[in-house]
Amino acid sequence: MTKVLVIYTGGTIGMIKDPETGLLNSFDFNSVYEHIPELHRLHTEIDTMSVSNPIDSSEMTSTHWIDMAKSIKASYHLYDGFVILHGTDTMSYTASALSFMIQGLQKPVILTGSQLPIGVIRTDGKENLITAIEIAAAKDSNGESIIQEVAVYFEYSLYRGNRSSKVSSHQFEAFKSPNYSELAIAGVNIKYKWSSLFRSKYPEPNYNFGLSNSVALLKIYPGMDINLYRGLFDVTNSKGIVLETFGSGNAPSILEMQGLMKTYIEAGGFIVNITQCSSGGVKQGAYQTSSFFNEIGVISGSDLTVEAAITKLMYILGNESDPAKIKAFIATPICGEMEY
Ligand code: ASP
Repeated sequence: MTKVLVIYTGGTIGMIKDPETGLLNSFDFNSVYEHIPELHRLHTEIDTMSVSNPIDSSEMTSTHWIDMAKSIKASYHLYDGFVILHGTDTMSYTASALSFMIQGLQKPVILTGSQLPIGVIRTDGKENLITAIEIAAAKDSNGESIIQEVAVYFEYSLYRGNRSSKVSSHQFEAFKSPNYSELAIAGVNIKYKWSSLFRSKYPEPNYNFGLSNSVALLKIYPGMDINLYRGLFDVTNSKGIVLETFGSGNAPSILEMQGLMKTYIEAGGFIVNITQCSSGGVKQGAYQTSSFFNEIGVISGSDLTVEAAITKLMYILGNESDPAKIKAFIATPICGEMEY
């Protein structure tokens, strides 16, 4: 029988309504079978593990990501697959971070959660959890895991984790992967999109727990006063900045802003340019308004999501110190997170 480890980190999925107060509280995850007896009918052995302090995912930090990656490392050889139950708010950040921290997965790590708690009658949590476990246990005809990467399962779709984004705070269809096909669609059967699945060049997982917290995010907007953000462009404050620009990577030609960026890069900072559009990517130099970025060494983030751009920068700056390598790694796909 296949074995799956379910790791509960918090979020709406694990909450039930206190019958007396009516408030939502985290339930004891060890009693998950009481709430979802259907789990007994899966032909999979399920072990559960709960973090000591389940949290709303808005409270996630890089330390939590490191703990999750360490839990997977510690039990990697004991299970066929892993399901991480997580709040939806920052699930795509966690999925992206884990994809960089654990490269060379030969087994699935599936994150899921829900918009309504398990204890609520119309919950989406049961289907999400049951199908996530099925996917985590699924093998191909050679006995190998079908999914060999970090993915997000939500409302009948499986997405590559580092391509996913939360797009709705109230609909069950809360996630999208704007620049990459779903990995699978769950209907009557689970239909995998075989040509979209990631396969690593590494034969074994390769764990890197370094993450830099000195990464900033700046979204530009018409009429912005760059002086409000001056402190960001100081390498003693930030080592890298993700810049969310217009359209295919364009920005206003404000001399003061250009000067700050140039000095920042010369002082050793890294700027990654991504689009603030909800799909598509950056083509630096396509317009006059982005050619300056090429001149000063801003790195194109291609079609990275903001979640993937931030966590990729945190990961690279946390593990590499050679500026040429940092630049090259940012611009190169590591685990299917961007187009070349
Ligand atoms: N605030 C919750 C969280 O992200 C929302 C959810 O789980 O859907 O933890």
